[in-house]
Amino acid sequence: MVSRPIVGQVNALSFVLLVLVAALLVSQIATRRRLTAAERAAGAELARAAPSAADSVVAAAAAKAPIGIVVRDKAGDLVFQNDVAADYLASTVDSAVLAMRLRSLLDEAHGFDEDIEQQVELFSPSPRTIQLQAVPLFTYGERVGTAGFIEDLTTRSQIDSIRSDFIANASHELKTPLGAMRLLAEALVATDDPEVQRDVAAKISSEASRMNRLVEDILDLAEIESSSSQPEDIDLSEVATVAVAKSRSLAEALGITVRVSVESVRVAGDRGQLTSAVANIVENALNYTAAKGMPDPLPVDLRIWEEPGRAIVEVKDHGIGIPERHQERIFERFYRVDRGRSRASGGTGLGLAIVRNVVKNHAGEVEIESVPGEGSTFRIVLPTQEK
Ligand code: ADP
Repeated sequence: MVSRPIVGQVNALSFVLLVLVAALLVSQIATRRRLTAAERAAGAELARAAPSAADSVVAAAAAKAPIGIVVRDKAGDLVFQNDVAADYLASTVDSAVLAMRLRSLLDEAHGFDEDIEQQVELFSPSPRTIQLQAVPLFTYGERVGTAGFIEDLTTRSQIDSIRSDFIANASHELKTPLGAMRLLAEALVATDDPEVQRDVAAKISSEASRMNRLVEDILDLAEIESSSSQPEDIDLSEVATVAVAKSRSLAEALGITVRVSVESVRVAGDRGQLTSAVANIVENALNYTAAKGMPDPLPVDLRIWEEPGRAIVEVKDHGIGIPERHQERIFERFYRVDRGRSRASGGTGLGLAIVRNVVKNHAGEVEIESVPGEGSTFRIVLPTQEK
C-alpha cells in the first residue's frame, strides 16, 4: 500500500528523464543534420573556390593512366601528354606514323565535333594493334579543347583470337563423334541382324564416351584457367596415390605396371588440380607406351622427391617418344603429334593443356625429355613451402 505512490513517483521521474533524453537526442540529430548541411555547403564553396586543386588531381590521375593521353587546348596547342603517350610517340618510324595519325584524328575531332576512332597496325619491333581515339572536350557546352587516347589492343586481340580458335577447335572435335553417332544410328535403324545391332550399339556407346571425356576436359580446363581457389597444404605423395588409382583400370587393360617411389613432400596448392595433372601425365605414359605395340611393355615410373626449395614429380615411360620439333607444341590445346594415334587411345588433346595450366597456377614449370622410339620423361617442378 505504501509503495504505490513511490512507484508513481518513480514512473513520473522516469517519464521526465525519458523526455529529456529524447529531447537531447532530437537536438543532437538536428545539430548533426545542420552540421552536415553546413559541411556540404562549405565543401561546395571550397570546390568552387579552388578548381585548380581538382584539376591537379585529375592531371595526376591522367599522368598515371595505363593508356596514352594527349590533350590540346581550344587553340589546338598541346597542353598535356602523359608518359605512356610520350613513349608511344617517341622518335621511331612507327611512332612517327602513330603521331601523324593521331594529329589528323585530333584535327578531325576538333573540326567536326565528333568522337573518332581508328586502329593502326604497327610491325616493329613486333606486330601490334594500336587503337587511337580523338574526342572533342566541352565544359558547360563550351568547347575547351580535344583529347587523344592511345591504347595497345594487341593482347586483347590475341586473347580474342585464342578464344575463337578454341571455340572452332572444340566445335570441330565435338562434331567428329557426333557425326559418327548419327551415321551409326542410321545403320542401327537399317539392320535387323542382332549381331550387327550389338556391334553398332557398342560403337555408339564408345563415341558417346569420347564426347563425354571431351566435354569433361573442356569444363576442367575452363575451371582451372579461371581458378582462384585458396591454396591448401598438400602432401604430394597422397596426390600421387590418388592419380595412380585413377589410372589403375587403364594400366590393367594395357598390361603395364606403374612403379611408384615417392617421398612425402609438401606444397601449397589445389589438391584436385594437382591430382588431375599427375593423372594426365601417367595416363599419357601408359597410352604412348602401349602405342609402341611391344608384347611385353616396360613399366612406367612415377617418382617424387624434394630438392632445396622445390618438389619434383617425374613420370618416365619407355614408349614411342616425341620428336623434338613437337615438344614445345604438345602443351597447346588440341595439339597432337599423331591425330590417329591420339584418337585410338581415346585422347582428347587437352590433357597436357590442363597440365600446363595447373602448373602455371602453382608457380611451377613442366620439363620434358624425350627421344623418339625410346621414351619420354615429364617433370613437374613446384616451389615447396617455407619451413
Ligand atoms: P592426348 O589426349 O592426345 O594424349 P595430350 O594433350 O595429353 O593429348 O597430349 C598431346 C600430345 O602429346 C599427344 O597427342 C601425343 O602426341 C603427345 N604425348 C603426350 N604424352 C606423350 C608421351 N608420354 N609419349 C609420347 N607422346 C606423348
